[in-house]
Amino acid sequence: MPELVFFSGTMDCGKSTLALQIEHNRSARGLAGMIFTRDDRAGEGKLSSRLGLVTDAVEVEDGQDLYAYLVDHLSQGGRADYVIADEAQFLGPEQIDQLARVVDDLDIDVYAFGITTDFRSKLFPGSQRLVELADRVEVLQVEALCWCGARATHNARTIGGEMVVEGAQVVVGDVDQSADEVGYEVLCRRHHRRRMTAASARAAALSPDVLPVSPS
Ligand SMILES: [Zn+2]
Repeated sequence: MPELVFFSGTMDCGKSTLALQIEHNRSARGLAGMIFTRDDRAGEGKLSSRLGLVTDAVEVEDGQDLYAYLVDHLSQGGRADYVIADEAQFLGPEQIDQLARVVDDLDIDVYAFGITTDFRSKLFPGSQRLVELADRVEVLQVEALCWCGARATHNARTIGGEMVVEGAQVVVGDVDQSADEVGYEVLCRRHHRRRMTAASARAAALSPDVLPVSPS
């Protein structure tokens, strides 16, 4: 039976690496995949991993009908033995419904990869719909670690190293940003709640006046 599988996790948990692995294993067996992505770090129409691997992909637009796209592709003689949707948290809920229809009506496996929650620890709409519709949710347990060494389960947005909790849900940034740019950092829940990033922990350790106690 074809399946809609949601591989979920934090940033930096190896989702795109696994997506590329699935793509590699299936294409090595002569299967052809349809790869969708949105806002990949390598640029439009790319699926890339932090380890430097990259492959071409279809850049999904707002409001694009993914089911219709597949039907068009197949009716023009194209092949799609499976579908990979990377950065699936950025897809609209209706696009997740379309992916479920690809599984049910076209008998094609769909593997969706996405970050579960945003920097406020709220579900992304695309990820929420995936949790609701997927045949299977696989939580990736690659060892992304908080600066304290605990397993990182939450995504923090930072500006100049300080964690922020206000702002638009989607702002493209990277974990390697510096200065006053928007960046992202994975934290354990404890330090996400206390808004302690690596930079603020370092600053606190250098200042004897700051007690590591907060009212929240
Ligand atoms: Zn921590």
